[in-house]
Amino acid sequence: MEKILIANRGEIAIRIIRACQELKMKTVAIFAKEDEFSVHRFKADEAYQVGTGKKPIEAYLDMDDIIRIAKETGADAIHPGYGFLAENEIFAQKCFDAGINFIGPTVKQLEIFGDKVKAKLAAKKAGLHIIPGSNGPVQSLEEVKAFASKHGYPIMVKAALGGGGRGMRIIENESEIEESYNRARSEAKQSFGDDELYVEKYLKEPKHIEVQILADKHNNIVHLFERDCSVQRRHQKVIEVAPSISLDTARRHEICEAAVRLMKSVSYQNAGTVEFLVTDDDFYFIEVNPRVQVEHTISEMITDVDIVQSQILIAAGKDLFKDLKLPHQADLKHHGVAIQCRVTTEDPENNFMPDTGKIETYRSPGGFGVRLDGGNAYAGAVITPYFDSLLVKACVQARSFINAVLKMDRVLDEFRIRGVKTNISFMRNVINHPVFLAGKASTTFIDNTPELFN
Ligand code: ADP
Repeated sequence: MEKILIANRGEIAIRIIRACQELKMKTVAIFAKEDEFSVHRFKADEAYQVGTGKKPIEAYLDMDDIIRIAKETGADAIHPGYGFLAENEIFAQKCFDAGINFIGPTVKQLEIFGDKVKAKLAAKKAGLHIIPGSNGPVQSLEEVKAFASKHGYPIMVKAALGGGGRGMRIIENESEIEESYNRARSEAKQSFGDDELYVEKYLKEPKHIEVQILADKHNNIVHLFERDCSVQRRHQKVIEVAPSISLDTARRHEICEAAVRLMKSVSYQNAGTVEFLVTDDDFYFIEVNPRVQVEHTISEMITDVDIVQSQILIAAGKDLFKDLKLPHQADLKHHGVAIQCRVTTEDPENNFMPDTGKIETYRSPGGFGVRLDGGNAYAGAVITPYFDSLLVKACVQARSFINAVLKMDRVLDEFRIRGVKTNISFMRNVINHPVFLAGKASTTFIDNTPELFN
């Protein structure tokens, strides 16, 4: 593998380019017209406009044009990043048919994990606990009602193909069923092109814990421990911590083992994440993300394993132990605590509406134990409304959780961003809140804590 096309934009495109450069591989960037001044295109060795004439997001989803560019530039592999085509089995198949290495799992694995109903079945087969639910798609409102009368409220309806916290609704009592069901269906159809829904019990104040997996093509698999992604706003992650400070050693071991068991059972290849909701008594599988995740950074910081480089080398057929020189699981250690805050151009005072415009001033923090993954944040940069609002990922690592929090507070304070609104002050409220400091933040912490918004 010598040349990699990066089928993405923004911070993750730059993250992948950096990994390629360290591996001495050439890079090809693609960009939508609206991204013609975006930094990722200038960081790559070559860059080409993709999906000419299409809308901004659709340009990055133009599979045939991406494959055309890969072929014309002689790229032997495509890294899809996250979002866009990262979990699209049709794209993975097209890459395969064109003789291009898709840096990710197999088409079959994408098919299983792209559909949450199929994923739950696979998890159940591997002996993982799943949240009591409909065991398959529901066909009618009556089925949802029947589920609720058998299992009680609250329940949740979810889009089978859902992602990014969309296409799911909590139903607290019977009076809400009909409207929530219909809304979830139309939202699913609109966002994911398929209105298949399933239903499950809604867990009260769980923690979201996920396990980072790396697996090669030679049946070797390791986990890189867990991340606590409980700090969410409307089911979307805002702040992540690795490792979780709320798990004891025995529980951590059980969860990581369960994740490995599931991924082994499907002979998983490449990087992936197994997500769980954890209550006081048990832990339940929710989904697998068969790709690199936004928050992979903090697992890298506590294990010293470069996950993106690993993805590339795994796709090239390398062996986790012989070639990547990873320690075997028993010797794989983590150290310290890492935290990531997702700095977005959203206005906390205006219901987190994305803000756009020119960044007038930009000074970024630095210092010992700080990592910033961004790219398009600099004085003079123009934030457009076309893509997601992630500006820069601020990560810190320190010896203990409290030291990491103190460092993060200093890091957030050190940012000087003028010209666009950001969520920085909001995140400082979160990390300084006693519930967060006690390691007790659950997935409903932000939504149920109005003083964070002051
Ligand atoms: P997505 O694919 O959209 O990210 P997930 O299935 O990963 O959706 O769930 C995202 C978040 O939604 C979880 O981290 C959790 O906060 C919440 N959630 C999902 N299912 C449940 C449930 N059954 N009970 C309580 N919260 C849930």
